[in-house]
Amino acid sequence: MEDLLYKNNLDKDDVIQLLSLRGDDQRRLLARALEVKLQHLDNKVHLRGLIEYSNRCFKSCLYCGVRGGNDKVHRYTLTDEEVLDCARQAMQLHYGSIAIQSGERTDKAFTDKIAELVKEIKRISDGQLGITLSLGEQSENVYRQWFEAGAHRYLLRIESSDEELYYKIHPHDARHDFRHRLACIDALLDIGYQTGTGVMIGLPFQTVENLADDLLFFRDKNVAMVGMGPFIPHQETPLYQYADTIPPAEERLNMTLKMIAVLRLMMPEINMVAATADQTLDPLGREKAIMAGANVIMPNLTPTSHREDYLIYPDKACVGDKPEECQSCLDIRMHAIQHEILYDEWGDSVAFTKHAQKK
Ligand code: SAH
Repeated sequence: MEDLLYKNNLDKDDVIQLLSLRGDDQRRLLARALEVKLQHLDNKVHLRGLIEYSNRCFKSCLYCGVRGGNDKVHRYTLTDEEVLDCARQAMQLHYGSIAIQSGERTDKAFTDKIAELVKEIKRISDGQLGITLSLGEQSENVYRQWFEAGAHRYLLRIESSDEELYYKIHPHDARHDFRHRLACIDALLDIGYQTGTGVMIGLPFQTVENLADDLLFFRDKNVAMVGMGPFIPHQETPLYQYADTIPPAEERLNMTLKMIAVLRLMMPEINMVAATADQTLDPLGREKAIMAGANVIMPNLTPTSHREDYLIYPDKACVGDKPEECQSCLDIRMHAIQHEILYDEWGDSVAFTKHAQKK
């Protein structure tokens, strides 16, 4: 096992073995991942101020609390002014980057509005704020339009890289087409976005082989960023019926930490998120993810009046925190684990920057 912690080009069996470690062996894996991160990326943590733009969604992902089919959700879309205020707040707090996330729409009114907002944020920040988008599956033209408007990073989790499992957690129809999702990731990479993907961990029907395949998929695609977090069942979703078949919260977080650690060994220079879902399952979940190899945190900037409506999973952490409270809280939390937040910088993925220079 010690050998695996230092081996290049881990194969599927190696990855399964590493994901199966427990106790002291698991602690050694996490410690090695932290060492690799510190060697390649130092102890810096990048921030992306998260703006949850809208919970209107025409998809019906079987795990998601704001899925189109859930009529208990109060639907909202932020006004332009609200979005620009969030961006201003990001600047005041010296966050170098923001991320705009939303339920999914593909109509022209929506896609043009996003382009306009991206341009406006670039304008009011004098080009200073980095912009990540996480607005689901779109046409290549729309991705290109948003890229040209000034967005330079895009997050689209594959959710599961196994086609069979994908269709157990999504309806099997034209709106939830696994092949299309893959094509979207390829288009984003092709256009030149710093592209991020990821999966949920602890899904019903998910095996350790599936998780190993997910990590190999990230490496094959050579993505610049990965966001992985534990699955948290939401009562108003179809997958809730399997809630008692999945591993307990502690196990799901534990597996998430191992996934982060193994991926850090496989891809030392990518950006990896310590997800809010980690903190939802454990008050120190994000710190644990940072100590297992993650290097990005996404503090929430959404106006507090709308946060209760963007509950993709229940009991989301920090829903009541004001942005300025969030900043000092994060500073203290990161110092406590000998990490340092990097302010006023985009915090691009080192993997991406090096790759782009070689081209
Ligand atoms: N519509 C966008 C944004 C989705 S929300 C898109 O499809 O990309 C962002 C992420 O939250 C999703 O990609 C999913 O992985 C995660 N998520 C959704 N429901 C969840 C749940 N019940 N538990 C944990 N994570 C969840």
